[in-house]
Amino acid sequence: MNEEKDNVPNILLDEGRELGERFEDYLVKIHEGFHNKRFPAPLRPMALGGFRVATGRDIAGWHQIQKDWMRYIDEIAENPQSSSADELFEQIPEWVGLFQKHLVFAQRAPMQASRFFQDRQSIVDAEKIFAENGVKVIEAKINWLKRLMSIRRIVAIDTLESDTGLRASLGLYHDSDVRGVENLAAVEVVDVRKTYGDVKAIDGITFSVDKGEIFGLLGPNGAGKTTLIECLEGIRTPDSGEIIILGETYAKKNQIREKIGLQLQSTGLFPTLTVKETLSMYISFFKKALPIDNVIAWVNLAEKSSSQVRNLSGGQYQRLSLAIALVNDPDVLFLDEPTTGLDPRVRRDLWDIILAVKNRGKTVFLTTHYMDEAERLCDRLAVVDRGRIIELGTPDELIRRHIGEKSIEFTYKGNISGQEIAKLPGLLNHWIKGDRVIVVSEKEQEALSFLLKEGLSNTEIGDIIVRRGTLEDVFLKLTNRGIES
Ligand code: ATP
Repeated sequence: MNEEKDNVPNILLDEGRELGERFEDYLVKIHEGFHNKRFPAPLRPMALGGFRVATGRDIAGWHQIQKDWMRYIDEIAENPQSSSADELFEQIPEWVGLFQKHLVFAQRAPMQASRFFQDRQSIVDAEKIFAENGVKVIEAKINWLKRLMSIRRIVAIDTLESDTGLRASLGLYHDSDVRGVENLAAVEVVDVRKTYGDVKAIDGITFSVDKGEIFGLLGPNGAGKTTLIECLEGIRTPDSGEIIILGETYAKKNQIREKIGLQLQSTGLFPTLTVKETLSMYISFFKKALPIDNVIAWVNLAEKSSSQVRNLSGGQYQRLSLAIALVNDPDVLFLDEPTTGLDPRVRRDLWDIILAVKNRGKTVFLTTHYMDEAERLCDRLAVVDRGRIIELGTPDELIRRHIGEKSIEFTYKGNISGQEIAKLPGLLNHWIKGDRVIVVSEKEQEALSFLLKEGLSNTEIGDIIVRRGTLEDVFLKLTNRGIES
């Protein structure tokens, strides 16, 4: 026997066994998570492939490591001088590498969960599995292996950590070979926080935006939308958390700058420059830019290219600010309230331009106050309130989840009381906004005839309509107040 070979202390073995059991528990939970009926079946092969590539083993491979781990511990406990001890020590460098990869995966996984699951509960469950079970047990296992290694000094852990091959393999999650994983996310946001004095403007936000989608951020005044979008644009720095744009963090600010387009809420353009001169100026800020006439054509400003900015209408001004965001042919476009203050027809023109940008394969991240805008433009959206995401999904999903197919809306005069409304058959929810009441009932026909025949005491009911549920209904329900209030 090698003289340097100290016996593994029993206490370390006991701890190793306990970690093995916790890891087994975690593996069972992720297996269940991937095969859960709420997991969209078409995405499962990609998710399992992503897991395998990111962690270096598929789930069966991890079960095998787990079995070997427990077997070594049992055999060493039984006979400290057995060959299992040597085998385990030989195994350590590879395992440390694999567990470190798995750790990176588990840290990122909650963010991935919002991509695969649409319902809030599953996202919360996934966060719990990875953040509470996974990350903690894997960190403890790496620690345990390092302590074990220090007993035997088979490989100095420093050598292992400075191994560039290993480092590279840890970054494999973003390797461009990993198709379907790397290629999915345009924007990844992990547990971002930003506080101003006592105000938690962003209070732990995690989500991701897929390439090629229009993703909307909705929320009442002061919800944190501008703070968040400005963090994503690199204009503000979060206090903590991670922002990854097209696989890069803001450590590489200049690289990101070239790939994103910004349309700011209040673009201060020079009034006496023409449209063309304005765009030329912005083009000069970038290494690579599109031909100016293409950009002007995209936003339908060809006729105005020689007009001074001060002579543009509100809609034309907004289109010019959109053109500025497009000059560097960005892959991701950030639009902060792109149509605020414009009349409905002009807003619709801008929507068409934004949809055309998406059709050119761009990713668009926008904030808006307008529910119709979100419904028309967004593939997915997040509703934020008081710095937190309170809902995330496609507009249809949110409407179905919160409202169902239809809602009843009526105007009223006089007093209205919740007690009276509660008499409506099948009542699930109701909101009062100004002189309008919106009612969601599981017995919508009965609720409608009740309103028509019985009415509500002390209330004069005006027009009644039965209509499809809208995002505005969802918003009212979630935030208990109107978005334009
Ligand atoms: P709006 O729709 O009105 O533009 P918003 O959703 O964009 O609102 P933010 O502007 O991000 O919200 O503001 C979030 C919170 O942070 C608010 O309470 C706001 O007062 C506060 N806040 C934002 N910027 C600052 C700042 N520079 N200093 C102090 N507080 C700030």
